Amino acid sequence: MPSPHISLDAIRALASEKTFARGMAYFHEGAVGTIDEDGDTISATVTGTHPYHVELTNCDGELDYDCTCPVGEDGEFCKHAVALGLAWLENGGEEVFHADESKTPKKKRVSKSDMLRKYLGKHRISIRNSERFFRHIV
Ligand SMILES: [Zn+2]
Repeated sequence: MPSPHISLDAIRALASEKTFARGMAYFHEGAVGTIDEDGDTISATVTGTHPYHVELTNCDGELDYDCTCPVGEDGEFCKHAVALGLAWLENGGEEVFHADESKTPKKKRVSKSDMLRKYLGKHRISIRNSERFFRHIV
């Protein structure tokens, strides 16, 4: 079965650490749709904020990439490409390392909206009505 030259190393080499982490998150969230294989090219729709069509191609042993998102169109290896690559590696039976998940920046600080959500949950107030409610208590 012909397959594009996709490896964890190749993805890591092309993506910045931040992009890699975001792509990994997308992959774990199941953002990657069904992967189509066509010769040396794999493609899928990756749905994050918006659905984008991503392609990874084996271009004479080099990993080439294409994505319809603004970052991808600028020629950067975007998080969607990372997500597709990781999904393909997993489907291909290769192990995707999970060790780097700890590198993903964690939101430890509790935001105002989190506090509000907690408060509302405690008081059984639905989020739908929260905006109006919140105006009264501020
Ligand atoms: Zn993209």
